[in-house]
Amino acid sequence: MVPYNSPKQLAVFLAQHGLSLKKRFGQNFLVNADVRGRILSLLSPARGTRVWEIGPGLGCMSAAILETGALLNVFEIDRGFIKILVEEFSARENFRLIEGDVLKTWPPLRDEKPGLIFGNLPYNSAAALIADFLEKDFIQSRWVFMVQKEVAARMAAKPGTKNYSSFSLLCQTFMTVQLLFEVSPAAFYPRPEVFSCVAGLQPRPDQPVILCRGIFFGILRALFASRRKTLKNNLLPWAASLGKDADWVTRLLDNAGLRPEIRGETLSAADAVSLANQAARLIR
Ligand code: SAM
Repeated sequence: MVPYNSPKQLAVFLAQHGLSLKKRFGQNFLVNADVRGRILSLLSPARGTRVWEIGPGLGCMSAAILETGALLNVFEIDRGFIKILVEEFSARENFRLIEGDVLKTWPPLRDEKPGLIFGNLPYNSAAALIADFLEKDFIQSRWVFMVQKEVAARMAAKPGTKNYSSFSLLCQTFMTVQLLFEVSPAAFYPRPEVFSCVAGLQPRPDQPVILCRGIFFGILRALFASRRKTLKNNLLPWAASLGKDADWVTRLLDNAGLRPEIRGETLSAADAVSLANQAARLIR
């Protein structure tokens, strides 16, 4: 058993097993049992549910999920942790370990259609992973993620506010985002410099119809290219990359019912979808 509730004993365990922590993998263990309990009660998968856990570390959450009878895939990159996970869990029939960088290892498994995806995500790659799921249209399941508080704020930010970004728009286009609770650095070993937040994301019941995903993602990036510029000026370089001129952008904005002088960052997810669909229609 890994001594997950005591930072001191965990440090001894890591040393005894020759495991060193790697900053690039964002390795901060959740050593607070109360916080783990709160997350587990949010997860509570039904028996037989396919669950994916991203970055299990030494398995502090995995053991409890396996007890529920869920079918658990864990995605871990650290070879030292993988060795411990194999020792602890490989005898369990409902456990499967996927080794390597989750950004590379998840796409071949997309047909598993997990009902639940969760994880205390590595800080440096949390947003990239969430964006990857969304951009690759992998949104059929419920997600519960621990992320840096600032990343959570971006996921849920309202149009026109300082945290609103193309990442906010991406999340809110496809998912309902709920910020569930904050977690202090003291809940982790080693202590991170930032606060964390547990966020729940559910596929929106009203999934948007997007006529051309390439155009939609291109527009999302263009909207925030320069925050000081107007919507029209931010769209010009994107339009030029498609061989379209300023008159075309004027017509596009007119068709979409958007004033050219507003800022891109004031558009809601619904506005962005409608703009992208108008662009797709005009390009055809
Ligand atoms: N789940 C454990 C916990 O809560 O104590 C560890 C969480 S720690 C914040 C992040 C975990 O993700 C580490 O185990 C780290 O090795 C793993 N990880 C980091 N980058 C990864 C990647 N690209 N693919 C898979 N796992 C990764």
